[in-house]
Amino acid sequence: MSHKRNSTKVDESTTYTLVDFFQRIPPGRQVQVTQAFKSLTYNRIEIKSPELQLYCDNCKGLRFFDGSYGTIPPIKFGEYYNIFFNYFCRNCEISHKIFAVRVHVRDKEICHIVKLGEIPSFGPPVPNHFLTLIGDDSHLFLSGRQCENQGFGIGACAYYRRIVDQQWQKLISEILRVSKGINADKEIITTLESSLSEHKFKRAVEIVKDAIPPVLLINGHNPITFLYSSTSRGIHELTDSECLEIATSIRTVLVELSIKIKQALSNKRELIEAMNKLNSKKKSKQ
Ligand SMILES: [Zn+2]
Repeated sequence: MSHKRNSTKVDESTTYTLVDFFQRIPPGRQVQVTQAFKSLTYNRIEIKSPELQLYCDNCKGLRFFDGSYGTIPPIKFGEYYNIFFNYFCRNCEISHKIFAVRVHVRDKEICHIVKLGEIPSFGPPVPNHFLTLIGDDSHLFLSGRQCENQGFGIGACAYYRRIVDQQWQKLISEILRVSKGINADKEIITTLESSLSEHKFKRAVEIVKDAIPPVLLINGHNPITFLYSSTSRGIHELTDSECLEIATSIRTVLVELSIKIKQALSNKRELIEAMNKLNSKKKSKQ
């Protein structure tokens, strides 16, 4: 159960709680955690399994999960322990999350801890319609996410930027489809149409920078302009963690945009259906 060897480096400048560790730290990154233990009798300590807020696939949202783990040998300072934590959604009691972690117990306050893996995989879920939207490039996205989850910022950035480079026309056509569907300003529609005849992303962005229906803005910003600025910036001089930040924001904007497109189109469909029902009721009364 216990091992003396340990190869990964720990960043001791930041200390996390066990909850932060489980919820926010991807597998493979060893961190320093405080208050991970509770005292038992006879000077013994035990590692906690705190309640977590995780995405439940079954309840379709963030829910509280309760956890436990099997029997481990009595904890001694300086030792390593490999532990499987089992978590269940408190709401549906169906969704299950497993963390395999290795804990190096320094003393009763501090331990160094790393996830050996987690199932389902780390990070927010990727909506299926997003993978359908990007079609053949979905394998690039999944590779990018793997890099991002393991903290490989340069790799993640390269994969996500490749998707944006290859998919910007598709994204603009989807924005055009929404604009037509929701009867956006005529000017927005003609501007989007003319940007699609451009072969260079830069030129297309200059054209569409003010032409986006407000329902597709992300925090008040045009997602296409954002994607362009994050892919046009040179990353050669940036550190891995700076690249990781860029990668995370590209991924967030891509997924968020696809969610907004889907919502706008389905709101439009619901509206048409409601109008049709209303009209047919009126007709039957006449
Ligand atoms: Zn649930």
